[in-house]
Amino acid sequence: MSSVGVTVLGSGSKGNAIVVHNAQEGLLIDAGMSFREIRRRLAVAGLAESLIKGILVTHEHSDHVSGLRVCADHFQVPVYASRLCADRLRHQDDKMCPAILFTPGGSFPVCGFTVLPFAVQHDAVEPVGYVISMGSRKVGIALDLGRPGQMTEFQLRSCDTLAIESNHDLNMLAASKRPWHLKQRILGPQGHLSNQQSQELLGKTLSSNTRNVILVHISQECNTAELAENSARRKLQELGRSDVHLQAAKQEQPLPTVWA
Ligand SMILES: [Zn+2]
Ligand SMILES: [Zn+2]
Repeated sequence: MSSVGVTVLGSGSKGNAIVVHNAQEGLLIDAGMSFREIRRRLAVAGLAESLIKGILVTHEHSDHVSGLRVCADHFQVPVYASRLCADRLRHQDDKMCPAILFTPGGSFPVCGFTVLPFAVQHDAVEPVGYVISMGSRKVGIALDLGRPGQMTEFQLRSCDTLAIESNHDLNMLAASKRPWHLKQRILGPQGHLSNQQSQELLGKTLSSNTRNVILVHISQECNTAELAENSARRKLQELGRSDVHLQAAKQEQPLPTVWA
């Protein structure tokens, strides 16, 4: 049976890029940093550029797409996006190549992978999370989420590897110098998940299959990797699942690949 690896090249509010791959081929989820930086991080992670066979976009915010066009051009791979998101991408950058369109909720094959995009709540145009499977292996990715919702919980259930948002610590967000309207946006139903909400999502989606949990999109100003990890670890202990491998993604450097 082939294993599926997840390598977070970087994640946070300043840029996101994740590779889901086996030994031969892989998909880049978001290209929210420059092509140069993505290329550098692929090398640091020990992944060949030729591995990348396509780029899946979650939504049009710059921390997810700032390097998208240049990456697609250099890697010479297709970009996959929901229809409205693709329209917005072309509106943001008229040199953007046409994307291959999908409808959230409908799965499609890319190389040996089956990709299932699912709708999420976030203040973007038709944003999605992804479940990517190969054989019996399943990876669930949910980056920017206002509220998880039943659809997200349902789709993420029974994944071998979960990459879920753990954006902010409520106390740190409240104490931060961010303007009131921005705090309201982050806390709102179309904003971002707190450590507490992430922990609750973990409780609803963890299954006997789950072997790896990666906390992503951790705010550098309103959270720390330690707080996010401690919160998730408490939940795993409460669920009797201290065996699950837990990592917190970093903004500045890739994480070691996790396999399931
Ligand atoms: Zn984001
Ligand atoms: Zn966003």
